[in-house]
Amino acid sequence: MEDCLFCKIAKGDIPSKKVYEDEDLLAFYDIDPQGPVHFLVIPKQHIGSCAEIDESNSAIVAKCFEVIAKCTKELGLESFRVVSNTGLQAGQSVNHLHFHVIGGRDMTWPPGD
Ligand code: 5GP
Ligand code: ZN
Repeated sequence: MEDCLFCKIAKGDIPSKKVYEDEDLLAFYDIDPQGPVHFLVIPKQHIGSCAEIDESNSAIVAKCFEVIAKCTKELGLESFRVVSNTGLQAGQSVNHLHFHVIGGRDMTWPPGD
């Protein structure tokens, strides 16, 4: 998608600090970290949000979670939170599917603001 920030990051047109990359996925550190470790995992193909996951693209979503397990292990994170804000009310600000992976600090539940 032409005007999508994360499509541009996936293509390398906008630089990012990478955690992991392969032909399908990119994991990179969030520019505004909400914890000692905060990275995002995105599919390189444009999927708007969790609301657009279906049988045609769910394999890539499964792969996102494989990458989350691999990267957190490599970073020595035993405890972490995976979040995907979906839609305006939930606070989604970039309309390209992404999983926040946040760790390294105590967290509360429910998440609230
Ligand atoms: P959302 O608000 O959609 O749940 O998450 C979008 C995330 O993308 C935010 O945590 C924000 O800090 C991050 N972000 C926005 N622009 C950039 C950017 O240019 N580079 C990086 N690395 N992260 C970004
Ligand atoms: Zn996109």
